[in-house]
Amino acid sequence: MRFSRRQFVVSAVAGLAAPVVLAGSAQAAGKLSVVATTGMIADTVRRIGGEAVDVRGLMGPGVDPHAYRQTRTDIVAMTRADIVFWHGLYLEAQMEEFFHKLEDRGTVVAVTDQMPRDLLRGHDDYDDKFDPHVWMDPTLWVLVADRVRDALIEKRPQDQAMFEANAAAFATELEALAVYGASTLATVNPESRVLLTAHDAFGYFGQAYDFEVLGIQGISTESEAGLNRISALVDMLVERDIGAVFVESSVSDRSMRAVIEGAAAKGHVVSIGGELFSDAMGEDGTYEGTYVGMIDHNVTVIANALGGEAPADGLNGRLSVGS
Ligand code: ZN
Repeated sequence: MRFSRRQFVVSAVAGLAAPVVLAGSAQAAGKLSVVATTGMIADTVRRIGGEAVDVRGLMGPGVDPHAYRQTRTDIVAMTRADIVFWHGLYLEAQMEEFFHKLEDRGTVVAVTDQMPRDLLRGHDDYDDKFDPHVWMDPTLWVLVADRVRDALIEKRPQDQAMFEANAAAFATELEALAVYGASTLATVNPESRVLLTAHDAFGYFGQAYDFEVLGIQGISTESEAGLNRISALVDMLVERDIGAVFVESSVSDRSMRAVIEGAAAKGHVVSIGGELFSDAMGEDGTYEGTYVGMIDHNVTVIANALGGEAPADGLNGRLSVGS
């Protein structure tokens, strides 16, 4: 029998979707085995699922979800999982086809699938798609947390009360994070509220906190920025006397260095205001390796670099973290 790559995936799914009892696994211990694509989703599932879930995140620190392709190990994990959570909105562009196949075989949830479309921003490159970077606004991420809670309850009704309590505690933190973001970023002068980053991940951030947002690359990272784009951004930095730009942990800083050098050649000094977590979180086991810590980091770094006033340690330690 000859198999195309697509057929391989389908048959792997078919072969492994039957109930499998794995000695010593999470399933044997009675936990729900969950796979999540981005770190932001994995963290959210851990917060809400608590003791009832065993979560495997596919994309670690520094990984670009626009470009990520599932590995063979990922495929095995996803076909064995009780639930697979992915982001949707064409974020995982290279995995979309795989998830649609997997949908026929098990519980696969795109966490943005029920988000009201009138809350979403358009996509620069595709008329029929939306900007996927909704995690940049904690008030939108609450809706994702609700979706995760509902999916876990559907799969494990006996733990409904725990999932609801955990989701409520997480939502309270997200509200505090949104308030911190708004009050901290309001300390930046309106004329300094320009955020130049490696790619257009901060559209929802700009909308929530009244910042003008510019990316060297577009909403996806799939195409390289051209020289025209870089030279237009250099002119803009010089004209508007913008002194700080930002690099991203999951995108190369090569184009940003070209912008900084271009500005220097015109006698305008631009510094790197800091590294932001755009599409991936910080290192596992650190505060920035959580959803709340990632957004807090971004808010705090941006406010400090653009002349605002943020506490040195951000919101860290001032939330009653329940996990
Ligand atoms: Zn992105």
